[in-house]
Order: sequence, then C-alpha cells, then structure tokens
Amino acid sequence: MEYRKFGKADWKISSVSLGALRIEDAAEADGSIAIPDYSEVIKHAIGKGVNYIDLGYPQYFADPEKAAGRVSEALSGGLRESVKTAVNISSRGIASQQALSAKLDGQLKLFGLDKADFCVIGDVNRGTWNSIKSVDIAGWAEKTVASGKAGDIGLKFHDNAHFLKGIIDTFPYWAFLQIELSLLDYTHHPGVGCFKYSDEHDIAVIATDITKAGRLLRNIPGNVLPVMEESRRKMGQEERCIRWTLNFREVSSVLMSARSEMYSIEQTDRYLSYIDGFSPGDVDIWEMLDAAKIRDAYYSNRNYRCTACRCCTPCPEGIDMPRLVELVNDGAMLSDSDIPGFQFNLEKHQDAKCIRCGVCNSQCPKYVPLEEAVNEAFSKYSQYGREDKV
Ligand code: SF4
Ligand code: SF4
Repeated sequence: MEYRKFGKADWKISSVSLGALRIEDAAEADGSIAIPDYSEVIKHAIGKGVNYIDLGYPQYFADPEKAAGRVSEALSGGLRESVKTAVNISSRGIASQQALSAKLDGQLKLFGLDKADFCVIGDVNRGTWNSIKSVDIAGWAEKTVASGKAGDIGLKFHDNAHFLKGIIDTFPYWAFLQIELSLLDYTHHPGVGCFKYSDEHDIAVIATDITKAGRLLRNIPGNVLPVMEESRRKMGQEERCIRWTLNFREVSSVLMSARSEMYSIEQTDRYLSYIDGFSPGDVDIWEMLDAAKIRDAYYSNRNYRCTACRCCTPCPEGIDMPRLVELVNDGAMLSDSDIPGFQFNLEKHQDAKCIRCGVCNSQCPKYVPLEEAVNEAFSKYSQYGREDKV
C-alpha cells in the first residue's frame, strides 16, 4: 500500500481508503433491504493497510441505529484504534452553531464514539456555504477541534472550483477537501481546478465516486463501448478509474465504497492489485487520451448541453435549474435514476414549484430549454423519497 501526504498533518493516509454507508447504499436501501454486513471487508481492508474509514451516512437509512451499529461492530476488537475515522454532517438547513453541534453529537452517539478523528461538513456549495458562513462555521470548527470532539475538520465540496477561493480564504485551516473525482469529472464540480486552491493552503484532497458509485462499470452505453475497445492502453474500467484518479499527486487518497466498489474480499484485492507499485504520474499521455475520449463519449449522451455558468439564475420560485439539469444529465449519461432521484429528494427540490414564467429560458446562452429540463427532473425524480433522520 502506498501512503501519501495528508495536507498539513504529520500523518500519511493510505492511497486507498474505505467508505461505509455511502449514498448508493442509502439510495438502494429502503428498509426492506438488509443493512449490509461490512465486517469482513473492513477487517480485510485494514489488514491490507487501509488506515482511513469514512463512517458514512446512517441518517439516510430507515433504521440509522442499526446501520451505524453494523459499522461499529465491524470496527470492534481493536480495529477502531488502528485506523482514523471520519463522521459526516450535512451543511443543509443549518441555522446556528448549536445545530452543527447537535448533528455532530448525533453522529458520535450513533457510532458509540466520544470523538472522531475527522468530521466532514457535507453538501458544501455556494448556497449552503452562505448559510454556514453566516453562523461562523470557522469559529465552530476551531471550538470543535479544541473541545476534542473532532481531531480535524474537512469539507465535502460540490460546485465550481472558483467558489472554493472564498471558502478557503475565510478559513484556510480545513484539513481536507472531499470531492467527486472520476474520469467524467475532470473539469466538473469542482474537477482538477480545485487543486490550485488546495495546493496553495496545503489542504489534502480525498477523491470519492471514482466509478460514480459503480455506474461507470455497468450499463455502459452503446456509443461508449467501442471507444473503450479502441483504447490504446487496454485495461478494464475498474483499473482505468483508480489509476486515472491516483495519477494526480494532489489526491491523497481515493475513498472506495464498501457498497459499490470494494464490496468483497476479492474486489478489495483486485482494486489493490491495480495500484500495486503505482505512483502519481505513472499514467502516460495515451492513457490520459483514452480517458478523455471515453469522457467525451459519455458526455455526448447528456440531454442538455449545460456548462453550469448559472446565467439562468435566480429563479423567482427558488428553483436551482443548473442543479436539476445536472441531475437529469447524470441519469441520462449513466443510465440510472436511483442516485439522482435520491439526491433530488434529499436536496428538497420537490418543495419548489415551477410557475412556467419563462425567465430562465431567456437567460441561457446555450439555449438550454430550461422549462422542459425542470419538468423532466420533477417527473423523473419526485417519487424517490428519503428523509434525513438525524
Ligand atoms: S444558463 Fe444555461 S448553460 Fe448556464 S447554467 Fe443555466 S442552463 Fe446551464
Ligand atoms: S420557468 Fe420555472 S424554473 Fe424557470 S424561472 Fe420560471 S419558475 Fe423558475
């Protein structure tokens, strides 16, 4: 196992880390599906050198106590002490520092912990950032670390890279950024553009969703398959995804899902074998070009050619049109409605109503038919409901 620098910390993280209870778990689990037993995978991954476990999102499960209990059980018997753990709290709907503390306390209680090594503030984008900035998130982070409840604080960020500048300028002491970074996300929300800011302040980057919750491995569209077959560097899609992401020296670790990626001992060993002896920069120009062609083929399946410039905002009814277009495109590119549907409901887009005023249509420089896109998002995703229970 390779160990990489972790921002300013005097500790190195395994280049592969493990995430339990990820969004894809929650998007599939509805109470009728058994909560997965991660024991063997967690023990095996730690035995292979994984030293960072993200505990995930028990609050999205029908029975959060049971879901968290499964992960805690898997980490018993001394394993908890041999790894760093991270709990997650969402920045959505936060109106006070007390609300942040209550969420953190709730997570610690669920996992039976007095403290966590790391706390990840999730769902950070330009909108939620304004809310948590107004409650002095930086002050809260300092107090929380000083209290010992969390060893350090990181952010899970999903928005254009340039919005990171203000976030990091406000508080340059974030321990890490957790971002979605797959070969589809090269320049997308935030893509590699965030490295400029993470480098400037020595903030570690943890990459998640490197296979888009397993969706880059299955249901591969008909127009993408021949592009893969014609690749100059022949390899399977799992190997391509992990090599592409770990090729960036700015990435400290890839967070692999115990649900959709490292879900068995065999899968764990397979992923680790792909990066045995691997170092940043090992991916050559031909392999990078193969990845770019595959990305272009996926992108050609988007329903709407949106560049996320946000010229169409604001909507008088508070609808986040660019995000809805992103969710529709995500479903179309990856032949999946479950995960974008789950996110649609979690982010509460269904609470707003389009009055068909047409304001957004007239603002889009790419002529995206926004009323149609908004309507499509509502009709496709409204039925996928799940609430945050903690
Ligand atoms: S104005 Fe058009 S391209 Fe820009 S975010 Fe809105 S829909 Fe996308
Ligand atoms: S048409 Fe609908 S989405 Fe567009 S600005 Fe009007 S209310 Fe908002």
